[in-house]
Amino acid sequence: MNHLLELKDISLNYHTLKDETKAIENISMYVDTKEFISIVGPSGCGKTTLLSIIAGILKPSTGAITLNGKPISETKNKIGYMFQRDQLFEWRTVLQNIKLGLEITHNKDPENQKYLSELIEKYGLQDFRNKYPHHLSGGMRQRVALIRTLVLRPEILLLDEPFGALDYQTRKTVIQDVASIIAREEKTSILVTHDLSEAVSLSDRIIVLSKRPSKVKKIFKTDLRKIPSIEDRKRTDEYKQIVDDIWKELGSEETTT
Ligand code: ADP
Ligand code: MG
Repeated sequence: MNHLLELKDISLNYHTLKDETKAIENISMYVDTKEFISIVGPSGCGKTTLLSIIAGILKPSTGAITLNGKPISETKNKIGYMFQRDQLFEWRTVLQNIKLGLEITHNKDPENQKYLSELIEKYGLQDFRNKYPHHLSGGMRQRVALIRTLVLRPEILLLDEPFGALDYQTRKTVIQDVASIIAREEKTSILVTHDLSEAVSLSDRIIVLSKRPSKVKKIFKTDLRKIPSIEDRKRTDEYKQIVDDIWKELGSEETTT
């Protein structure tokens, strides 16, 4: 059976005038429908690079990447991307921000407009429709950014450290919020994070990358998503064990220079 997303022997070298940086080397991995995957690894190892390749923004130097068995370059608008900074446009209202994706991709047909209204209603944004982003809390901004991405019905949602800019208190609530929207919409997701508790508590599988040029070092599997509350997941032995094991993997990475 085909996987939803498949990466085979992906490598990427950055070229500058002076030299070449080998960012990733022979990464093979897959993602199945409705899975939540986290990618962790040392800072600068190539996580953002990997997401950019999956998003079709960067072309790999070698290797093949397919979505539903088709080369990723032949698929259009199937990948949604959420960044650390929410990238909302301050001069557009919440509604105008959410509509932006549909405008850019020329998809403002009645069916999509209806879906947009449904999402706004379902996730409690009706009262904020005409507000500007600076009136919203950090958490609400991330929710708007997520809904803006979901409106485009991506088959895969990529999240690059989306909670990194939030303070500790807000972070907990926003993570639960984003995770439950993703679960409710049954979106396949790939999250890049340096926060192991986030990675383990949210994922079906956690892919640990080595330092640059990064390769897949180890993959951990969990059943934690069966438990609805993220805080409850963190109280289980399974959670503690996996966090511990990943620490050891990453720790050995630091000392192998
Ligand atoms: P991570 O997201 O894991 O922190 P990145 O994917 O951003 O890492 O970067 C991986 C490596 O590639 C780093 O050493 C970084 O300096 C380098 N790099 C990233 N983008 C570029 C670029 N556009 N040109 C040259 N080198 C780059
Ligand atoms: Mg990065």
